[in-house]
Amino acid sequence: MILQGYNHWIFDMDGTLTMPVHDFDKIRTELGVEEGHSILEAIENMSDGKAIETKRKLTRIETDLANQASPQPDIESLLGRLINRGCKVGILTRNDEQIAHRTLQAAGLDIFFEDRVIIGRETCKPKPDPAGVLYLMEMWHTTAESTIVVGDYLHDLKAGFEAGATTVHFDSSEVYEWPEYTHHRVSSINQLLAMI
Ligand SMILES: [Mg+2]
Repeated sequence: MILQGYNHWIFDMDGTLTMPVHDFDKIRTELGVEEGHSILEAIENMSDGKAIETKRKLTRIETDLANQASPQPDIESLLGRLINRGCKVGILTRNDEQIAHRTLQAAGLDIFFEDRVIIGRETCKPKPDPAGVLYLMEMWHTTAESTIVVGDYLHDLKAGFEAGATTVHFDSSEVYEWPEYTHHRVSSINQLLAMI
């Protein structure tokens, strides 16, 4: 029970709660965003007209992907156990919240999360900024000491780490990049279940 004493759990959505379906290189190509650049930040730097058109395209791509979402193996067991123990669970995603809801519904995971704890890019500055982690901690009247952030990418780990929370890097490939922002590593949700 390595992870005892953490009562507030913040999850990344795509690739953590759900199976990864986002091919970000392909999305970048479709949107005309240069390789290696972050999509949201690239849109921010576009002219108004181009930004609106690109956002529309992005929403269409994200909606298609959301409809294909499926749950990560064992994630229902993990969420169920945490909730039964009285832990709070929330989601911090770089998606917009409507897409997040659609994704969770398609994956059958919407039953585990109240609407107010699904934090997308319209509520807080997106990850890697720690704003969303701090926002949920404030909502829950809790501190970083009791908070865990679970994610499969640098943005998740950095946001959690910079908010002072404990981070768990979920990486089925077991490469485990970004050790500087990582406290614990798991290659499956089943492994995480064994730690709580
Ligand atoms: Mg992810």
